[in-house]
Amino acid sequence: MAENLMDKIVALCKRRGFIYPGSEIYGGIGGFWDYGPLGTELKRNIKNEWWKSMVYLRDDVVGLDAAIVMNREVWKVSGHVEAFVDPLIECKVCHVRVRADNKEDIAAHLKTHKDIQVDWTKPQKFNLLVRAYLGIIEGKQSETFLRGEITQGAFVNFQNIINSSRVKIPFGIAQIGKAFRNEITPGSFTYRSREFEQMELEFFVRPKDSEADKWFEYWKKQRMGWYIDLGMKKNHLRFRKHESYEKAHYAKYAEDLEYNAPFGWSEFEGIHHRGDWDLGRHKLMYKDEDLKEEFTPWVIETSGGVDRSALFFLLDAYYEDKKRVVLKLHPKLAPLKVAVFPLLANKLPLVKMAKGIYDNLKAQNIGMIGFDDRGNIGKRYYSQDEIGTPFCITVDFQSLEDKTVTVRDRDTTKQERLSIDDVASYFSKRLN
Ligand code: ATP
Repeated sequence: MAENLMDKIVALCKRRGFIYPGSEIYGGIGGFWDYGPLGTELKRNIKNEWWKSMVYLRDDVVGLDAAIVMNREVWKVSGHVEAFVDPLIECKVCHVRVRADNKEDIAAHLKTHKDIQVDWTKPQKFNLLVRAYLGIIEGKQSETFLRGEITQGAFVNFQNIINSSRVKIPFGIAQIGKAFRNEITPGSFTYRSREFEQMELEFFVRPKDSEADKWFEYWKKQRMGWYIDLGMKKNHLRFRKHESYEKAHYAKYAEDLEYNAPFGWSEFEGIHHRGDWDLGRHKLMYKDEDLKEEFTPWVIETSGGVDRSALFFLLDAYYEDKKRVVLKLHPKLAPLKVAVFPLLANKLPLVKMAKGIYDNLKAQNIGMIGFDDRGNIGKRYYSQDEIGTPFCITVDFQSLEDKTVTVRDRDTTKQERLSIDDVASYFSKRLN
């Protein structure tokens, strides 16, 4: 069932316009994905909810949108040129390379050789930064990198933000944006991509163990709570402490938030105690004007992946029975919030009334609204369930007489009759 579930999600994503393989008409390109109309909405909803909870609802976090390409020096100083590496082994039979720490990939590769004894090379370090070349004159181009994590933007702008806003320690800088990694073996659908989006908070605290420990625990709780509030099942989530051998070069200690995916427990957000690694390397300090002291703050980071979250929200929401397939996505995440149907497509008064309700709902600013007049009502419900639309409204002949419509709930399939005048307030309540 588990592997099967993954296949079903991949197929649904393609068929209904959530996610397509990148550059597909030219044979694709490993590790790159394009989000279709519904996937774009899902991702946007995830990012909006994250931004709301991390920036709008807080007094101690400000936003930033730093450039993807930075001065090469940033990556040298941050340690990424030297230490942003994965260990790689090569099959001596066919020269395919896999990550030395990925047991599943190794096992899968061994299966391709069946009866042959496979020898592997010793693990070699492989830098994950994607190179980029600037300038138009061949030979005079300067080499830099596409950012391997969005984090560094927050550090190189640390002083700018202090000078231009009124933040005081403890405070955070929040960012959402693309990052790029030359992953050796992209796979598990979007889980390991070469281009992906991160949503990250760098939270600056006083350099004291008690402060760091307190905020680390605080952010662990916040982040796990955020996923649960948006409908992820608690028993599908767990934290896992990093062993010393797997800690990133910048981390004092770290824990991964993992999801129980069909391919095993898998990280999709990391809570990292980065200590003074980054600010120290960039030679940046914080001046406390009240206490008249200067110090290098420590950083507690929450680093989540938008794509991995989207994938896990989809897997978690998938439900099927004999009659239907449903994405039980939280209404805040569902690509369409409401879909409006006229009972019959060829009865003008029904279509007109349905269009009126549709236009009104669009103007309410509650998110994307759908309209469907194809096929019969049963098929339309099926189609909306499969993409996770929480509510459907049907305009029928009774509507023309008494100005009421039926509202159908995705999860219970229960229908109720509602006055057209109450539709807007009903949804603004149910969707918020
Ligand atoms: P992994 O061990 O799976 O390679 P990581 O520990 O290197 O991940 P981090 O550097 O902590 O990941 O990145 C923070 C987050 O960014 C991850 O939790 C994940 O959600 C996302 N992320 C990292 N690499 C990828 C990738 N190749 N594809 C999609 N998302 C990614």
